[in-house]
Amino acid sequence: MRADGTFIAVEVEDAAAGDTELARRLAEACPVDIFLASDSGVALVDGNLDECVLCRLCLDAAGARGAGSPVKIIKLYDDGALLD
Ligand code: SF4
Repeated sequence: MRADGTFIAVEVEDAAAGDTELARRLAEACPVDIFLASDSGVALVDGNLDECVLCRLCLDAAGARGAGSPVKIIKLYDDGALLD
């Protein structure tokens, strides 16, 4: 799944999006509530995407950074560079 704001896009690999434990960790980690934990896994809050403060707590919660992470923070304002 992917959701795009103006400055930031967030992508969660489909294989990970249904992981309710990952969803819980992401929802707990993100200080600006971009992730929600639902019964079916990860949900993204479109209206909060551009509030991302690039803190990397979601990447730590996902256990990986960069291209190998199931969670990707895409800097649309920087030609789509990944936060790693
Ligand atoms: S980098 Fe920080 S603010 Fe941005 S989505 Fe991840 S946890 Fe939330």
